[in-house]
Amino acid sequence: MANWVAHSLIDGIRSESGLDAEHLPAGATPGRPVSQPLAAQAAARMAAICPGGAIAARGDAVGVDFVHCVHCQRCRRPDGDLAWREDAQWGAWRDAASNPLPHRFRHSVNVRYLDAGACGACMGEVRLIDAPPYNLHRYGIFVTATPRDADVLLVAGPVTEAMRLPLRKTYEAMPEPKRVVAMGVCAINGGVFGRSFASIGGAGDVVPVDLVIAGCPPPPLAIAHGLLLAAGQLQPGRGSDALEP
Ligand code: SF4
Ligand code: SF4
Repeated sequence: MANWVAHSLIDGIRSESGLDAEHLPAGATPGRPVSQPLAAQAAARMAAICPGGAIAARGDAVGVDFVHCVHCQRCRRPDGDLAWREDAQWGAWRDAASNPLPHRFRHSVNVRYLDAGACGACMGEVRLIDAPPYNLHRYGIFVTATPRDADVLLVAGPVTEAMRLPLRKTYEAMPEPKRVVAMGVCAINGGVFGRSFASIGGAGDVVPVDLVIAGCPPPPLAIAHGLLLAAGQLQPGRGSDALEP
């Protein structure tokens, strides 16, 4: 313990700044494309190259529906024509009726994460939220192994046929009140896997989704942003622009 304190004093704080900090270190998040003015020809070109159907040309502007963005980066300058925002505010409420957990959960939230068929990258990012650089414990957010203790269900990946029942049972085993967070494009709408004989699409087809965290995969700070929204530690609206009109 004494060593740990000494190291902290000598080396300084190693965790990332809180999400309320204006500055994010370069590379902490890859950023995300946003709606912006753009010449009509370039706007049409960007819409045409987007594999996720996230970009819509609207005259002299583009609209970005970030929920459909698979982060291929084709639209990003200098190869593409779009400027990106380099923040970690990627979480957004599913609709106007969604709301955070009650106030008593503000500093004590247990999260059960469930791999419903993810490629591996989303789960790799989730595992980092407890690591020292991100340290979500400091906000009172903990990972639990059992749905009986969980307040938030964090789902990653398209839902495979094999995981449809486990996802449903996990949700039903959780006590009220509870919130469901779909993490990554696949959990939101099936992503690049879509619907097939093996995949039924997004988590919303099985359980009621309250909040989405866009990205493919979302980086740890983006996941933290979504979980803090679910816990009510960030006020609605802080991340609402993650869903561009
Ligand atoms: S980064 Fe996203 S918005 Fe841009 S082209 Fe790829 S899928 Fe489309
Ligand atoms: S959203 Fe992207 S990273 Fe996450 S499971 Fe789907 S393909 Fe993999």
